[in-house]
Amino acid sequence: MKVLKVHGKQLPVPPFFQVYNYGGGNGDKDREIVYSELTGDTPALINYYYINSDKYPHIFQSPAFKNILSYSNIGDVYNNVRKRLIKDKREIYSGYTSGTYDFNDKIFLLDSGAASIVKKIAEDIDYDVAKFESVIVEHMRVYYDFADKLHLDLVVGFDLGGKYTEKDGEKKDKKLCEFLSSIDAERINNLLLEETIKYLAAKPDFYPYVLATVHGASQKDYEACVDYILHLEEKYDYTFWGFALGGIASYKQVDSSWYSDIDFAKTGKRGFIETVTPARACRIVRNKVGDRPIHALGCGGYPNIAMNYYCGATSFDAATPVRRVGDGSEESTRQVYDPKPMKGVSFSKYFVGGINADGTMREEPCSYVKLNEVKDSMKLCGCPACEMAGSVKHIKDLYHRKAEDNEACYFSRQLMGLHAVRQHRKLCEVIASYSDLPAFCEAYPSKLNQGLVKIFNQL
Ligand SMILES: [Zn+2]
Repeated sequence: MKVLKVHGKQLPVPPFFQVYNYGGGNGDKDREIVYSELTGDTPALINYYYINSDKYPHIFQSPAFKNILSYSNIGDVYNNVRKRLIKDKREIYSGYTSGTYDFNDKIFLLDSGAASIVKKIAEDIDYDVAKFESVIVEHMRVYYDFADKLHLDLVVGFDLGGKYTEKDGEKKDKKLCEFLSSIDAERINNLLLEETIKYLAAKPDFYPYVLATVHGASQKDYEACVDYILHLEEKYDYTFWGFALGGIASYKQVDSSWYSDIDFAKTGKRGFIETVTPARACRIVRNKVGDRPIHALGCGGYPNIAMNYYCGATSFDAATPVRRVGDGSEESTRQVYDPKPMKGVSFSKYFVGGINADGTMREEPCSYVKLNEVKDSMKLCGCPACEMAGSVKHIKDLYHRKAEDNEACYFSRQLMGLHAVRQHRKLCEVIASYSDLPAFCEAYPSKLNQGLVKIFNQL
């Protein structure tokens, strides 16, 4: 297995990055930090906008991030967060003995969360588009200074983020919508690339390894963007450590030309259509950049991982594994033993299928299943979260206890969510030892993998 060295830490290729959204909400996001030992040294992607609440005050901000710039290591910040959550807020299940854990052993990747920053800037400049360019470049510099001061291991190049106008709630805000639609995103992203490289070329001691962010509406635009980055590297005599692929995580937000030529008749679209754009983007970039790291932003959903990897990506992240447990409502905790509950009750979802800790394929087809529909007799996968859980029945029992012991319920949700993270990581470990997608899928002939081969052959 190939291993990248990142500031003395080992990053086996491909790694799955767990998304820490602590600071962008409470509840499950807190407990994900509390039970961090269950995902061990799985690297984490964190969101700059959420954690730099000194600069960007927001509704879910955490007091643990106050004066964050007084730290010089991001690992110490999270050690302190975890201590606060366990010792001060007591957000831990009484039946669990917390082990020691040091976030300084973890590899952190910082992403800007620029969509929220852009909104904030728009407000600050009173929607005056003429002022936007110079202001966003200033925010970009503050972002890199922050990453350097806190010794982030890796940082995603600052860019505008995805498409804005289609995001929830923003349609209602007419002023903001007008502002966003009048921005020439491609021009500003290119400006940010050039300003990034100028900043970095002038700072030879900059600590984090930087991923240049690639974007583009069509495949042609994507290629042009990579060419532009390579041109800038030559012009400023600077070499990025790797590349981050942006704007491709949701097929609903990209130009349909990315996938319109693919025949989904034999696989169905569901679970497969979303794999095409990231896979093609990975291939476009890989063909141009030699063997440098490529991170597919937000493209680490289970069906994506193998496709992306065999098309040239070296890492990915996804918030889905932990997010799916967030679907569980209070009512669902009362009905968790009932496979046919009342209509409309929303349950936390358990990731079934995948690969056991011993490397054997699991029997169930891959999917997120409502906890009440998971059979008590289903064997667990053998990951640290499952070892801790013991059985599906035990997870349900903990989940059911919400009314009398909220922390028992939260614990059950982490056992599910962190098991799902471990499954994504396990898949990464397994594919690393197969040279191509057909060979991997032959060894693990799940329905998902058989479908992936059919798509892969059309790319
Ligand atoms: Zn497990």
